[in-house]
Amino acid sequence: MEKGKYRVLLFYKYVMVEDPVTFVAEHLKSCKEIDLKGRIHVGTEGINGTCSGTVEQTDAYMELLRSDAHFADVVFKIDEADGHAFKKMHVRARKEILNMSLEDDINPNELTGNYLEPEEFFKKMQEEDTVVIDARNDYEFDLGHFRGAVRPDIENFRDLPQWIRENKEQFDGKKILTYCTGGIRCEKFSGWLIREGFEDVGQLHGGIVTYGKDSVAKGQLWDGQCYVFDERIAVPINQVEHVIVGRDHFDGTPCERYVNCANPVCNAKIICSEENEHLYMRSCTDECRTHPRNRYFVEHDMTVEEYDARLKAIEKHRNEVHVG
Ligand SMILES: [Zn+2]
Repeated sequence: MEKGKYRVLLFYKYVMVEDPVTFVAEHLKSCKEIDLKGRIHVGTEGINGTCSGTVEQTDAYMELLRSDAHFADVVFKIDEADGHAFKKMHVRARKEILNMSLEDDINPNELTGNYLEPEEFFKKMQEEDTVVIDARNDYEFDLGHFRGAVRPDIENFRDLPQWIRENKEQFDGKKILTYCTGGIRCEKFSGWLIREGFEDVGQLHGGIVTYGKDSVAKGQLWDGQCYVFDERIAVPINQVEHVIVGRDHFDGTPCERYVNCANPVCNAKIICSEENEHLYMRSCTDECRTHPRNRYFVEHDMTVEEYDARLKAIEKHRNEVHVG
């Protein structure tokens, strides 16, 4: 397939949707008629989606969504692609279009940080007394992030508010900048920071993906790749240089390849080379490797003898290089 024949769209809008359940049923029907694929969440607070299709299909979808007065000014981030980035079309009603589970919800239309365009964000993050906070999950940060950004020690974005409270002294009196993939997480997170008492809070408007396309910022000071929630998994951002920050889970060498742990109970995202994936049977720990439901064993049609031999090989390798 020729590059550019397909597109991936990323979009959101916080706006009151009176009856999400009815909207979802109609929207799913329209998306299926267009033959679009992807994932769209709708709640009373708005819409959040990412989807893929041909140029014609994505054009038809953008027209469809904008024809609804609620979403007439929705901003689409558009990536060219080689093919679909999703296998199915899901449109679902959700209480929150983004899971942040705040005890008192934030309406970004009433309270949110200053929107900074990529060029301003690029300048501001280099100023003194500025702290840049990554508003994403840890596995996203590990694949790529702004140089010098704070990596909150959390597994899930929804744990971020609690972590900020526990580490408040790091940020007191500082200018705070937040960023995330497409901007939606920062809408609420930056508003929450202001409600918590932080005074100077800015957010990267349009998120990392917009920053990477900006003709002035050119993705500068971004290291690694940007994790995306579709089959592409990672997209490039920095147009000027490519510094690899991802590290192989097993041997610590530079790497930008994500796989899921073969133990379905764990399913952790692990960065590793193809070679190490097979050497370690795509399992993040010994416990996962020997878990009775480990999928690698079945996927590769291994005999018990082959499996035992592989475990011994790992043990031998570990004794030789002291890793894994
Ligand atoms: Zn695991």
